[in-house]
Amino acid sequence: MGLRHLLSRRPWRGFNTFRDRDELDAFIEWPLWRIAAEAVLFFAPPRFPRTMMRLPLNQPELTSQPGWSPGPILGIESSCDETAAAVLNREGVVLSNVVSSQVTVHEKFGGVVPELAARAHLGRIDMVVKEALATAQVSKTDLAAVAVTQGPGLAGALLVGVNYAKALSYGLGIPIMGVNHLQGHIASAWLADPAFPLPCIILVVSGGHTHLYRREPDGRCVLLGCTRDDAAGEAFDKGAQMLGLDYPGGPAIDRIARSGDRQAIPFPRFHQAKNSLEFSFSGLKTSLLYRLRDLAVPLRPGQVADLAAGYQEAIVQVLATKAFAALEQSNLSALAVVGGVSANSRLRAVLSERAACKHIRLALPPAGYCTDNAAMIASAGRQLLMRGERPSSDLDISPMEGSMVFNGESCTGFPKRKETAYS
Ligand code: ADP
Ligand code: MG
Repeated sequence: MGLRHLLSRRPWRGFNTFRDRDELDAFIEWPLWRIAAEAVLFFAPPRFPRTMMRLPLNQPELTSQPGWSPGPILGIESSCDETAAAVLNREGVVLSNVVSSQVTVHEKFGGVVPELAARAHLGRIDMVVKEALATAQVSKTDLAAVAVTQGPGLAGALLVGVNYAKALSYGLGIPIMGVNHLQGHIASAWLADPAFPLPCIILVVSGGHTHLYRREPDGRCVLLGCTRDDAAGEAFDKGAQMLGLDYPGGPAIDRIARSGDRQAIPFPRFHQAKNSLEFSFSGLKTSLLYRLRDLAVPLRPGQVADLAAGYQEAIVQVLATKAFAALEQSNLSALAVVGGVSANSRLRAVLSERAACKHIRLALPPAGYCTDNAAMIASAGRQLLMRGERPSSDLDISPMEGSMVFNGESCTGFPKRKETAYS
């Protein structure tokens, strides 16, 4: 069945223009066409017909299913600058975890360019999914479900993953589960340690989030505190840019700080009010700016290492102090730290040391599960399906923070107050 024949069915009017299932299946085999068309429609002016934005995917046999019988699940992540796919087996064990990073696309701009990220996802997603299935030695017809990051994230980037997953779900007749990206990061703690106990405290530290949660025995997450301005990863990235280090900044500061003296150039630690579990990192950035202004340029390599070590130490100590304060305030003894910044070697060392001292059970996922990956999305989607959550075959992207309900709680809405204290 040729593409010309398929296009004569006018698929942009909706899938019900196809005569039969064979025609539809043949069209599904052209996922890049679908994604490209949807992307055009998404960015089109508001009066442009948007029929394809709402796919007629409400298959009654999927949404009326009372429960999900476990089987291999495919996870897809495309919320920012990593195109990722992973396969978990029916017991939740990771069979493959493929991540295609876009560092080379964005490094010359010193940050993620949303339009370029969306285009890069479009070019890579099919290859990445195929590689994940091949590595896992699972055929797509063996899949029992597909889980995909629905938000928060970049709209164009999310659109690629969500529409790819929808096409796959419809073509294969399997349920699709939309996953909140933060919920994915949280699930990564249990990927590494499936017996990690509940209730516990969870610190999510990534490029976009610095959030402290208490996770209840029923799986619900209660927000205890979050950043008022920059996220910890953002502070690493912006600090590295000021120091003239590589992109992304977190790993670059981590590397160079190992040869620096963290006491040589101390930085203030912003703790907010006493006992507060809120964070603030924008003042730290300003401190670095003033330190650089006061030092003679060009800096000696040793000075850059000392600055990086001092700057990193301020972030690490604040994160560790708040995480342990949350444990104390909630009277809990289990802590999970997840997200890209949890890959930081100094943070891992400080947390491990304090946890050992205070007899706290600590979950620190291996580096591959810290930064964005699809194994965590597949795992979170699997947990939702196992809990009897209804798969939503007409799901749409939710790019905005707090636009998705997250375990019954909104991700944002944390009250912002004025007072700031630092030691
Ligand atoms: P997102 O914010 O899109 O969820 P990730 O969870 O992948 O992204 O986290 C990316 C962030 O983690 C970036 O800000 C990056 O600088 C930071 N990061 C990655 N590795 C390290 C590291 N070793 N030390 C400190 N920060 C790191
Ligand atoms: Mg992330």
